[in-house]
Formats: sequence, C-alpha cells, structure tokens
Amino acid sequence: MLETRILLIGSELTEGRIADQNGRFLAAELTDLGFFVRDIQMVPDDKVQLRAVMQEMLASGVALILSSGGLGHTSDDLTAVLWAEVLRDSLVLSEEMLAHLQKQLHARGISSLPYLERYALVPERGKAFVNPIGLAPALCWERDSQMVWALPGPPSELRAIWYASIKPKLQERFPLRPPKQYLVRTTGISESRLSALIDSWEKALPDTFRLAYNPSWEGVTLRLRAPADTETDLILDRVEELRAILRPYIYAEGDISLSEALLQLMKEKGLSLAIAESCTGGALSAEIVKVAGASEVLMGAVVAYANLLKQQLLGVSPYTLETEGAVSEATALQMAEGARKVASADIGLSTTGIAGPAGGSPNKPVGTVWIGLSTPWGASAKKYNFSGDRQTIIQRGVAAALSFLWQNLTRNLYS
Ligand code: ATP
Ligand code: MG
Repeated sequence: MLETRILLIGSELTEGRIADQNGRFLAAELTDLGFFVRDIQMVPDDKVQLRAVMQEMLASGVALILSSGGLGHTSDDLTAVLWAEVLRDSLVLSEEMLAHLQKQLHARGISSLPYLERYALVPERGKAFVNPIGLAPALCWERDSQMVWALPGPPSELRAIWYASIKPKLQERFPLRPPKQYLVRTTGISESRLSALIDSWEKALPDTFRLAYNPSWEGVTLRLRAPADTETDLILDRVEELRAILRPYIYAEGDISLSEALLQLMKEKGLSLAIAESCTGGALSAEIVKVAGASEVLMGAVVAYANLLKQQLLGVSPYTLETEGAVSEATALQMAEGARKVASADIGLSTTGIAGPAGGSPNKPVGTVWIGLSTPWGASAKKYNFSGDRQTIIQRGVAAALSFLWQNLTRNLYS
C-alpha cells in the first residue's frame, strides 16, 4: 500500500491554541483515495526541529509527504525555505505567479501589498499551484519515487487547493486503489444496543472487511470498508442485510448530517418547522440554518430564556410554569405548541433544560433536558439526562431534538 506522512506546522498547534483541522481532513481524504497514512506530526515554528522532521520524513522513503502551514509572509513562516533546503532546491521569483497574484488582488479591489512577492517565490525544480481563495500557492516537489507538497495553513485554503489541484494530481500520479466503503448513519440507538443487534451479522463478515463505529451526539455511523478488489455486489449484499436489521434507525447512507436528512425529509413531505428554544439558546436553529435551503422548511425560532418570554411569545401558561417549572414535560409541550401556532407551522419543536453548571436540584439535576414536539398527528415529549459541561449539554440537547423529531417523523410518515 502507498504510504504517506502528514506534517502539521505551527506553534499555535503545539501550544494548544487551536485545534487541528488540516491533519484530520487530509488523513480522511488520503485514506479514501487508498493511501495508508503512516502518521501525522505536529511541529512548532522552529527551524531546527522542522528541518530535522522534514529530513527524517524524506529518509523514511514514503511515497508522499504533505505539510500544512507556514507558507505566509511573516517571520515564523519557514516552510517553503526549509523544504527547498532539504530537497536541495532553491526558491525563485515567478513572474507568472506574481502576475496572477496581482490580478487576484485587483479583483478584490486592492492595488498592491508590500509583501506580495514573497508569495510568488516558487521552487526552481518543482511546481506551484495557485490558491483559489488565498495568496499562498501550494508547492510541490517530485524526487524519484517521492512527492512532497507544502500547503497553506488556513483550513479553507487548504481544502480549496486540495480539490482544485492536489487530489487530481495524486490520482494521476499514483496507481491508487481506493477501498470500497459504505456509510450507514443511525440515530436513536445507543452504540451498545446497536452492536448487540448486529453482532451475528458482524461476525459473519469476510476477514478482509473492516467495520468501524463512529459515535457522535447525533447517533452512530457505521463505516464498512473492503479492499479495492472486492466485488461490489458482495459489499452491497452485506449492506442490504444491515439495512434490514437497522431500518428504523437509519437516517442516511453516505456523507449526510442528521439535520440535512431531516430537512430533506420535511421538504419531501411539504412540512414546515417552527422552533422554541430555552436551554439550547438558538443552537438548535443555528444547526438547521447551516443546511442550504433551510428556508424551505424552517419558519423561524423563538429563543425564550426567561419565563416571561415563554408566556408572552409562546403562550406557556403561568400556572404550568408555577406548578411544574420551566424544565418540565408540560412546559416543553406548550413551548412546541406555541411555536407551531405563532408561525402557523406544521411542526413545533422545543427544548428546555438545565445546562448548568448551577441551577440543578435533586429532582432536576444539571443535564435534565426536555424535548417537546407538536405535530398534526399529536404531541409528545421526552426527558433526557445528559452529563457533561455546559457546552456539551447544549450540543447534546440539539442532537437529541433533531433525533427525536426524525424518529417521530419516520414513525408517523412511513407506518
Ligand atoms: P498565512 O498566509 O495565512 O500566514 P500560512 O500557510 O503561513 O498562511 P500558518 O501561518 O501556519 O499558515 O497558519 C495560518 C492560520 O491558519 C493559523 O493562524 C490558523 O488559524 C490556521 N491553521 C494553520 N494550521 C492549521 C491546522 N492544522 N488546523 C487548523 N487551523 C490551522
Ligand atoms: Mg503564516
């Protein structure tokens, strides 16, 4: 198998100031292409350390090395110079690249930048590929059987260059045999129950197949992977068996989020949605708004944190709030009902809970979250008890609301 190594450059990473996105992205893409990612290393902006790691990676003889970061114009940006040095090359000014960068700047209404030339320094015995959304080009060297890429650090730029230049180049340059894989996404079933349900199916898989469980707050995604030369039908038969076992829980097959699947389903059925949020503070509607075309389904959301707003905007009864409290089944139901009414929507969805760290009681500990639902076929609510910090409880509340709605819709629309 073709081996690759990933080098993430930046003191921000090694000091823990930012979380890595590039290593994750590249590793997943490379694996899908059929590479074996041997390792991902993080190194600070330090000349001596960087040079040593670059040399070691080259000497290891892997087919492909990719680095991210340090291609800018500031003093801590050392990547291009160091790669050129360890590859016994030099950087030269490319008039062609400079002209391209100037054109790009003009298009953005900027006449010039003092450090622009720095971005037009390209390998003398290598190539540079333009950055579709930023300045720093990707640099590429090929030596015997090895290929080295230096990519800019900003994740959106790295992705843009990946799709525009790198991925096509790698597919052209290497005889890749991508594994066959299939994603099955489930919600509303725990990892342990799921694993018990598919136990005998899993044990009967051919030895060459790999099954991975990827749990998230939305649910568990199963990734079934088989070697490139596996007959497609052989995999599809297994997936069909899996579908039969897990049918009530599968919201998507492939790279689709729960909110995307939900909106797709509601669009198909011509259902509109209104939301009432308390403890999730807008995070639930934000999650839905991320999906392109959300406006075809989502009417809007009321973030009613204080009881006064629950009463005045959503019509929750003061008596309910007084006797049962804001975090209760009755309040969740009335919030959902209120949102549905005020927006004249088909479906109302609500969240109310205690995200903590304060505000819990023995009866209603921190992490108690009620999700309410009001639909043309009836109303329902469910209580969850989440553990974790405030942010985690909010995220889990959002995921639970999406999952609760999805489960209710599939049960009622398809039964
Ligand atoms: P620039 O021209 O913007 O300086 P660069 O190629 O020099 O680009 P860096 O200076 O290393 O890249 O990083 C620029 C920014 O990109 C960082 O401040 C950080 O926000 C982001 N970044 C870099 N590497 C990563 C990474 N591995 N994961 C997530 N974000 C990253
Ligand atoms: Mg930089």
